[in-house]
Amino acid sequence: MFHGTRPGWIEVIAGVMFSGKSEELIRRVRRAVIARKPVQLFKSHLDARYAGLYSVTSHDGETAEATPVDSSEEVMRLWRPETAVVAVDEVQFLDDGIVTVANTLADRGVRVVLAGIDMDFRGLPFGPVPTLLAIAEIVDKLQAICVVCGGPASRNQRLVNGKPAVWNSPTIMVGGRESYEARCRHRHKVPRADEDQTALL
Ligand code: ADP
Repeated sequence: MFHGTRPGWIEVIAGVMFSGKSEELIRRVRRAVIARKPVQLFKSHLDARYAGLYSVTSHDGETAEATPVDSSEEVMRLWRPETAVVAVDEVQFLDDGIVTVANTLADRGVRVVLAGIDMDFRGLPFGPVPTLLAIAEIVDKLQAICVVCGGPASRNQRLVNGKPAVWNSPTIMVGGRESYEARCRHRHKVPRADEDQTALL
């Protein structure tokens, strides 16, 4: 881990879905709790599936619960001055203000750990994550396993009704009809609306 002369820096854990970002974030939070650092854990768009997973308890009973947030301003407002470690999961869904919030907290001596998806379903840089990668002191980019070839996967394959989603579908879909797979660059398909999709599966 980073050993500067003063506390306060930014760590980013980036990568495709299923690459283990949440596992790594929770591992770092758990270790901070064991070290008796006051930790605040946030998650944008808290998902009911993950309730429980985001309750981190050390062997001596310290617990860090994830607080759902919808904006970077909420992270700043909820931060307590005694908190030494701020961790945020699903940071790609937060607004660009998270860049200023992360810098402000790090300047104040906080260890800021941010986990998020770095590319959208098209393979384009996603939300504030590319900028966070640039300003962070420490960056880890994780890969999943490509469900088609078994190689390292860097891309999020969006499927709608089992078929690759077209390029001009919205970056964030509302309604949940889509599903996602981790795929490598070569198995990642994003057809233009007028392409024959049967050839792309
Ligand atoms: P992330 O936060 O990056 O979406 P998680 O930490 O939630 O990832 O989940 C990682 C876990 O997902 C892995 O440990 C593994 O058990 C599981 N998993 C499911 N599909 C895949 C895949 N295609 N590649 C790698 N891990 C996968």
